[in-house]
Amino acid sequence: MPDHNTPPTSPYTLKLASLNWFDDNPESRVYGDLYFSDSDGLEESRYIFLQHNQLEQRFQALDSNQPGHFYIAETGFGTGLNFLATVDLWQRFAPNNWQLHFLSVEKHPLKKTDLQRALKRWPDLQHYVDELLNHYPELTPGLHCIKLPYLSACLQLWLGDATEGLQQCLDTLQPKFDGDCGAKVDAWFLDGFTPSKNPAMWGEPLLELIAKLSKKNTTLATFTAASDVRRCLQEKGFNIKKASGFGKKREMLYGYFEPSARTDSNDSQRHTTKKNKIKGVRAPWSLPPTIKRPETVIIIGGGMAGASTARVLAERGIQVTLIERHSKLAQEASGNAQGMLYTKLSPQDGLLNQFTLSSFLYAQRHYKQLLQQGLLNEQQADLCGLLQLACSDKEQALLTQLKTAFADHPSLVQFLNPEQASRCAGVDSQHPGYYFPQSGWISPSALCNSLVDHPSINVVINTQALSLQKNTNPHLDEHWCVKYSDGQHTANAVIIANSHDARHFQQTAEIPLKIIRGQITALPAQQFAKQPKTVICHEGYLTPVIDNTLRFGATFDNGDTDKTIREQDHRRNLDSLHRSLPALFKQSVDSLMHNQPSGRANLRCTTPDYMPVVGPVQQHAAFISDYAALAKDASLDIQQPGRYYPGLYINIGHGARGLTSTPICAELLAALMCNEPRPLPRIMVEALSPARFLVRNIIRKKITV
Ligand code: SAM
Repeated sequence: MPDHNTPPTSPYTLKLASLNWFDDNPESRVYGDLYFSDSDGLEESRYIFLQHNQLEQRFQALDSNQPGHFYIAETGFGTGLNFLATVDLWQRFAPNNWQLHFLSVEKHPLKKTDLQRALKRWPDLQHYVDELLNHYPELTPGLHCIKLPYLSACLQLWLGDATEGLQQCLDTLQPKFDGDCGAKVDAWFLDGFTPSKNPAMWGEPLLELIAKLSKKNTTLATFTAASDVRRCLQEKGFNIKKASGFGKKREMLYGYFEPSARTDSNDSQRHTTKKNKIKGVRAPWSLPPTIKRPETVIIIGGGMAGASTARVLAERGIQVTLIERHSKLAQEASGNAQGMLYTKLSPQDGLLNQFTLSSFLYAQRHYKQLLQQGLLNEQQADLCGLLQLACSDKEQALLTQLKTAFADHPSLVQFLNPEQASRCAGVDSQHPGYYFPQSGWISPSALCNSLVDHPSINVVINTQALSLQKNTNPHLDEHWCVKYSDGQHTANAVIIANSHDARHFQQTAEIPLKIIRGQITALPAQQFAKQPKTVICHEGYLTPVIDNTLRFGATFDNGDTDKTIREQDHRRNLDSLHRSLPALFKQSVDSLMHNQPSGRANLRCTTPDYMPVVGPVQQHAAFISDYAALAKDASLDIQQPGRYYPGLYINIGHGARGLTSTPICAELLAALMCNEPRPLPRIMVEALSPARFLVRNIIRKKITV
């Protein structure tokens, strides 16, 4: 019996593909089936999936005057051959201002060396194979959004069960809104192993999700001609035809979606009970409003959240005006000379932990790409690694748990004894630690300036946004007006990205935020005995020397809003560094204090649940009246979708980890605004939604209605 359903031991472990090789043709040991035809896998892929979805003609027909995206989804990523063949076609026939979104689900991913071996048979695709291998993700469960800018493509790889993955691509589980919300697939590749060897990949629940993610005329192709598959697809509304199969296979299926041809009753309705509740489904408060892709956007705030969002929108052909009240970008929480690419791993599963890991893995790939593309240089960023020391008993107990949970991921994190940690850090450490080899530090201001250096971004400095107003004239195009003391700007949409100052806008005044003061300290490097080779985290952190300066910190003072530099905080930083790494010191803390350290103090903005706030802004009073009944019964099936301000979005609350969380959050916001597939699963989109606090407070009866 195949053992592919035994639960893995850690939430971060997947059962990787176990292969037999016939020359370089892989066969799955679990399913006893080949990944592709033993005659010519590439020709098979082109014939079945590309040709029968008419991709060449459809790519050629895309309108280069109107940039957009084409969405392909696949069941069974395997070696990625179908993806690479598609990318090859995309490069040759699609307009270069269009983006390919390719979603694939894979329960047993191939390890990188196996992928390399399986793909070396296709010299024509070598360039694309190299790109894929260069960005092949860490094989942890969940959704990996892999941007491939050189290929104008984004691969979204769900590692885990196909049904679970496709369910996370739905914007809502509410059947009432199935048809008209979320990003819909343009073409499907159904490529799980043969149905008789892998029935789960062809069952009714999966095919139901395929129908839900389709729109009128979405096409589909598959190598199988199994009658059960054909019948079920027809019941779901697919118009299916047979064609000659490839190689030894006699027949295959292809077709298109015609929702009105559906013959089974909508599956989800079956869960409706007398009490008007749907199992596992909650009120659709997080359902994004139907949106029109904006042509112009104003972003308020020139820190990392604002600059990274400006960039991803500009790359989609949207005209962006970035408003900054200071005379330069990145003057507030993004203003330190060196920021670290930090994450806090947990051995447990959970939403915050999933977001922490996903955003970190995405950010590592993102900065590597920015360095490769020359958008950052080596003086502005160094992915030199980050060592987390475990200085207390509690941290050492955590280290032991993490060592088990992340045992399969040495390219993400390595566990070091004190001797190894000392060698890695370049400073003697009495403590063990764990090391992130692909992390490091980045200059946030260099990053922000580089991101906004784009012809579609107009930066307006020395300008403070005072209020926001939506145009109410139905005869005019939708637009928002951002007012200053001496003027205004207008655009189709506005993004609030000015951290805790979001409280000053009437529309976002109620979002609960926490302010945490932080001060860093800087001293000439020669006043210390050693220079760290990597970023080192202990109770605080220190970064490798640049400009002959060692920078370290930072203090954490909840609720303190004063930005003046304090001598006692320099002492706190020095004391903490001395406790954790005494070998770094060649003079006492007292004598270093005499050398008048310099530094910076600023305010971090975080939230009660430590997740950032990213998404459309809800209409506070409308939410309270629409969802008041949730206070009596949180699972009540209220059918009203959330009421949001059309065209108003927010991206704040990144706390001390802005370098880590802003890249994926910028992508999420762009996806929501342009109706593209989301780079994060639905549960995480909900967990980041600005409306979540309000809904929780209604349910917890903390709001008087
Ligand atoms: N499209 C692939 C290519 O281009 O190389 C070949 C896919 S192979 C025929 C089928 C894939 O489906 C395997 O990689 C297998 O691990 C995966 N798979 C099987 N059952 C699955 C499930 N329930 N969820 C997700 N993936 C599954």
